[in-house]
Amino acid sequence: MQSRQSDNVVWHQGDLTREARWSMLRAHGATLWLTGLSGSGKSTIGAALEHTLVARGVWSYRLDGDNIRHGLNGDLGFSAEDRVENIRRIAEVARLFADAGVLAITSFISPYAADRDAARALHDASGVPFLEIFVDTPLAVCEARDPKGLYRKARAGEITGFTGIDDPYEAPARPELVLRTERDDVARCVEGIVELLVARGIVGSTPGPG
Ligand code: ADP
Repeated sequence: MQSRQSDNVVWHQGDLTREARWSMLRAHGATLWLTGLSGSGKSTIGAALEHTLVARGVWSYRLDGDNIRHGLNGDLGFSAEDRVENIRRIAEVARLFADAGVLAITSFISPYAADRDAARALHDASGVPFLEIFVDTPLAVCEARDPKGLYRKARAGEITGFTGIDDPYEAPARPELVLRTERDDVARCVEGIVELLVARGIVGSTPGPG
């Protein structure tokens, strides 16, 4: 975790509380943290979920691995250090979105349990819901899909430090939800997440803001 570089930076607290903001906007923020191997289905499910939620009138926004690496995290590579910093920044941004009342959907491999735990702790500390969703697709299935041709390159030694091949993926110990994409189609996976959000009172049971 990075800390403040200067002692002269003081947190400014406005008089609008989160509760009042959410209530007036009829919004309920949360971070949905999708984790899983490359090709497991995080981006596909995240995009379909975002569409479903927005169509229901729920403010949601997706932070997607490759997209974020084009901008905010364009200076980061895939070393262990850079992966940690990548996730740290995503967690901070997701928390800001969620604090604002948006359902932030993140889709990053986020292979290390410690980094995901840090993301959760950051949310817990400020009372913003954090739901870890494990897209539990077996490596063999991900590799057979190989939507971006990355496994082929990793097997050929053209990419090193590739999660699942020569870098570990630490499965979540207690995720809020596990999705099995080799069994359930995208629509069913999205339905499962919406059911979880309704059960947690984050989204209303009928279309419209929660
Ligand atoms: P990730 O973001 O985890 O790297 P992607 O979403 O980019 O994965 O790729 C997943 C691939 O698996 C896509 O080609 C998608 O069409 C396919 N797929 C097949 N079944 C499912 C499912 N049930 N959920 C998500 N993706 C699926």
